[in-house]
Amino acid sequence: MIRLEGVGKIYGGFTALHRTDLSVRRGEFLTLLGPSGSGKSTILNLISGAVAATSGRIDIDGRDVTDVPARERGIGMVFQNYALMPHMSVFDNVAYPLKIRGLPKAQIAEKVRDVLARVGLTGFEARKPRQLSGGQQQRVGIARCIVYSPKIILMDEPLGALDKNMRDQMQEEIKRLHTELGTTIVYVTHDQEEALNLSDTVCLMETGNVSQTGSPEELYFAPANMFAAQFIGESNLFDVVRGEGGVLRASDGTLFWPGADAGPGSKVLVRPEKLRIVDEGQLPPDRVNVLSGEIDHVSFVGGMTRVSVRTAGGTSFVAKSISERAALRVKPGDRLHVTWDAGDVIMLNG
Ligand code: ADP
Repeated sequence: MIRLEGVGKIYGGFTALHRTDLSVRRGEFLTLLGPSGSGKSTILNLISGAVAATSGRIDIDGRDVTDVPARERGIGMVFQNYALMPHMSVFDNVAYPLKIRGLPKAQIAEKVRDVLARVGLTGFEARKPRQLSGGQQQRVGIARCIVYSPKIILMDEPLGALDKNMRDQMQEEIKRLHTELGTTIVYVTHDQEEALNLSDTVCLMETGNVSQTGSPEELYFAPANMFAAQFIGESNLFDVVRGEGGVLRASDGTLFWPGADAGPGSKVLVRPEKLRIVDEGQLPPDRVNVLSGEIDHVSFVGGMTRVSVRTAGGTSFVAKSISERAALRVKPGDRLHVTWDAGDVIMLNG
């Protein structure tokens, strides 16, 4: 549905986006994820036509649109700041794109009624944007976008101004709308949880480059590089070298058996929730895939308890497990032993 080939953007002498290839399938939900300034909005603006590419070619639905103006690209936008017209009612805001397309009044009324019902705003037609909560205003923004059935919807941090509960609720609504409408969506966020929850495909951006593209599961369980490993989820990372019998050895003496080979610059990664807290007697006798240390810090974060531990070798690791109802078993100063399955060791080759 969307294809970028060697598309780059330079502002003055500054490269905001290095030459990039990117494809979005029809009906796909693709999220551009990355820290601030990594080039996410630049890609969105290049697709919408708000910004002209310095190099490369953009195709939409099989047609070269590189030089086609924004209004002729058939794309809908949803913005973080809602961009509603403050003096217009909810009805008029949503009706606006249909009015400028010259639809008959009766048809406009029917379509507006239909989309307001879809976003749960039936009965709010006469209100002005300032009489709505942030979440309701963004629902109007979404309704105004979907009312004319664009083939592609671009969303730039649409939930960025909302509080956590509202963001969670709106994520579910956006997912439902995507399933119902089947529209191709390109979504921008710096929030990894939001990206993992919403997307078919996540495109991770780093300083104007695509770092990794894949399903949420691929990014989490098979990060392609250090940046991906550190940006998505929490990681315990160790530099390793090959030891005897194919076991990998970290500088603090920790031994790993990932069943893979280490080269120069290799690291291994184990996610905190894969570490199983065990009693010393339950540790494997060969001491492979084992860490022990003194607890620095215990934080109870609702469903999960996060424990940071310092090893005798001076390194630290983090273990996370489902919180237990009974009083917590672990406290700072305690000794903690953890082990993990070989299948949970992720190799990052340097
Ligand atoms: P993100 O959306 O990931 O936060 P952007 O795509 O907005 O990042 O910006 C990427 C880089 O390009 C940033 O360093 C930003 O300062 C720069 N940039 C964006 N727009 C302009 C512009 N109009 N003029 C100059 N630099 C810009």
